[in-house]
Amino acid sequence: MGTQAVNCNNCGAPLEVGEATKYATCGFCGSQLEILRSGSAVYSQVLEKISRRTAEIADDVEVIRLQNDLERLDREWLLEREQHMMQGKHGRTYRPSRAVGVVGAIVMAGFGIFWTSMAISMEAPFFFPLFGLVFIGMAVAIGISTVSKAGSYARGEEAYHSRRRSILRELQARQRGS
Ligand SMILES: [Zn+2]
Repeated sequence: MGTQAVNCNNCGAPLEVGEATKYATCGFCGSQLEILRSGSAVYSQVLEKISRRTAEIADDVEVIRLQNDLERLDREWLLEREQHMMQGKHGRTYRPSRAVGVVGAIVMAGFGIFWTSMAISMEAPFFFPLFGLVFIGMAVAIGISTVSKAGSYARGEEAYHSRRRSILRELQARQRGS
């Protein structure tokens, strides 16, 4: 079996390798070399650099994966957000607010209490004060539902932001590293 002359790709030292040798160690600088053949040309490549390039590609793939995660998270939150939104007039949606729920319930209940006491003081037929009581009940129910929707919106939003922050942190760490 013949030998081939090849130069170390790291230090340029002349090396002799077997015709079928795929890997060699440079006797001068100690580099791990991969022996590559292209037609009649024989050359060497430092293995450490190859593995570094592979690590860079893996890093790039991870960055793309994280960017995709971020986009998907944003899309999912937009959809989830719709579920938390409340229907307003003319099909408009708005974000449920704890303050609006509480104030709205107080105003509605206040009207119900006013109505009921007026109906009682005027000795109106029973269904007049009863309507006022039903109105108060509705005010409390709508108030509780709005406050609870505001709570689940806030929890969903917090979960979204914390997941987003952790993906961004990972992305920044990757980009700093490469
Ligand atoms: Zn060398």
